[in-house]
Amino acid sequence: MRRYFIAGNWKMNLNRADSISLAGEIGKGLLDLPAVDVAICPPAVYLEAVGNTLAAHDSPVALGAQDMYPPDSGAYTGELSGAMLQDIGCRYVILGHSERRHILGEDNQLVNQKLHAAFRHDLLPIVCVGETITDRRSGQTGEVIQAQFEGSLAGLTAEQMAITTIAYEPVWAIGTGEVATPEQAQQVHADLRSMLEKSYNSEVASLVRIQYGGSVKPDNAAQLLSQPDIDGALVGGASLSAESFIGIIQQVPGN
Ligand code: PEP
Repeated sequence: MRRYFIAGNWKMNLNRADSISLAGEIGKGLLDLPAVDVAICPPAVYLEAVGNTLAAHDSPVALGAQDMYPPDSGAYTGELSGAMLQDIGCRYVILGHSERRHILGEDNQLVNQKLHAAFRHDLLPIVCVGETITDRRSGQTGEVIQAQFEGSLAGLTAEQMAITTIAYEPVWAIGTGEVATPEQAQQVHADLRSMLEKSYNSEVASLVRIQYGGSVKPDNAAQLLSQPDIDGALVGGASLSAESFIGIIQQVPGN
């Protein structure tokens, strides 16, 4: 039985005081999480302050980073390693977010190197995949997702794959207010699960958590989360307010 998983991606938003205040509100509002794992992913410079705030509230909410670079250390100006993220208390790391793929030019090969580096440092990866509107309109969604799955997730053992989270985030739904219908999302999630079954086995396929991301809000979360292959959400804009982030978590079945 997969446990739901909701993660908030704060992207390049908020300042230090606002980050601490939001983490405090989330920490206070989510003391008991019977049916769901929750993580928040602040900007890297605020990770430690947010982690300390969660710890001060004895919060079950975990800390996640928005990205990392593959090598463990060295001459990579501006980058952060998995070792550093582990050192300051991160449990999760988002990899291959569409903004990194499409704005910063990351390809599947780099995402895959980051993924293997994350495992070297005991970070649990959330690997994002998703098609553009052009891909969808030209009927290429299946091929694009398959290529990202094969390229970004290559070379994992069955044990590593089972603890990796995949986030299906249609690029056209991120930050646009245009959410995929529950049926559109479920279709891609089911396709991803059958890719997992073909590449590994049915046990691995049944263990991997697949989040949906793209304009998730408290008022559309319940329908998305009730789909059989949607195991949670990666939330951008709505994770910047404690009220809406907690509102989404309250829609998790059984919570
Ligand atoms: C995201 O950035 O991963 C995301 C899904 O953003 P939003 O919820 O704002 O669409």
